[in-house]
Amino acid sequence: MEHKTLSMVADITQQNDVDSLNQSFLVAIAELIPCHSISLYQTSQEHDTQAEELLRLDISNSQQRFFCHQWRTNQHTIFADAPLSQCLEQGKVVHYQKASLHISLFPISSENKITAAIKISGPDTVQGQLALLKNLLKIYQNYLFILNESERDKLTGIFNRRTFDKKLAKLLTRQRDQQQDYSAVQQQREPQQESNAWLAILDIDFFKRVNDDYGHLYGDEVLLLLSQQMKSFFRSSDLLFRFGGEEFVIVLEPIPEEMAAQTLERFRHSIEQFQFPSVGNITISIGYSKIREHDYPPTVLEQADQALYYAKEHGRNAVFGYQLLISNQLLQRPQQEEGSVDLFF
Ligand code: GH3
Ligand code: MG
Ligand code: MG
Repeated sequence: MEHKTLSMVADITQQNDVDSLNQSFLVAIAELIPCHSISLYQTSQEHDTQAEELLRLDISNSQQRFFCHQWRTNQHTIFADAPLSQCLEQGKVVHYQKASLHISLFPISSENKITAAIKISGPDTVQGQLALLKNLLKIYQNYLFILNESERDKLTGIFNRRTFDKKLAKLLTRQRDQQQDYSAVQQQREPQQESNAWLAILDIDFFKRVNDDYGHLYGDEVLLLLSQQMKSFFRSSDLLFRFGGEEFVIVLEPIPEEMAAQTLERFRHSIEQFQFPSVGNITISIGYSKIREHDYPPTVLEQADQALYYAKEHGRNAVFGYQLLISNQLLQRPQQEEGSVDLFF
């Protein structure tokens, strides 16, 4: 038993990103505790006592279901049953029974805040293994803290640039897998409007002036508030990155172009209307481009950047899409892009 536990701990601490850590943590619990299923919930952005299921391991049919890194065009299912809310609100372990199932909920905290919970369901109570579970949770939380530090931007808490390639590659792989399943179903249906993922680059207009007029600290406050606005505006399945300075990247899950343009335009407008407590109004410019399954991410970034540059050159406080600029002949497609070869996918 001790050998097995140590080997599980070694597996957990071998992971170098949060998603793999979460996966190996659930697998470790399943190896050590006899149970039917284990779920990982993450508190929702809107309410601390509600949660979304991120990951589920069904032991009976050896199925792992990952809800993260998966495009979800529908709204997520929010869980807010009384035991889960109690666990998240009070930070307490909650045990209860549902028919013949024994269910235990364990809160997970990060920087003194409850951010997630683990739910273990099985035929027996886990009371006998509480010490083991609690220690495993401590190791997981410590390691989660270290990995979060390396994946996230210190000021805003959103993903940093270093994480971008890995996250995007994972999403595209999943998108390719899902597309294959989806195509089979799609053949029997009416043709729908084409949906793609989108990459947008957002840059604050005349941000240098904010620093010059109010000081760097107030500039930082603007960055923090802007990132909070982004977190509450975009869906949790859209990915948000701070790319450095006052530049942010948003990866939108597959939606038709018109909807992507409207979403970004609504966000631009909401920032124009927002009163920043110390500096008043600021505006942002956004450039976006389509991400297809086999695209090379730096090329997409470059295209979105060109659309952003166009916005900066044409009055700022605006949203432009690369493909629309090309088709309206307002931008020229670079020569090598025509008939380009995908080198990496
Ligand atoms: P534009 O509308 O063309 O984007 O003008 P701008 O002044 O925003 O653009 P520019 O890229 O010239 O300046 C960006 C400024 O952002 C430069 C720097 O003072 C500021 N900046 C970069 N990183 C940070 C940061 O972490 N905190 C603060 N407060 N300012 C930053
Ligand atoms: Mg800039
Ligand atoms: Mg700027």
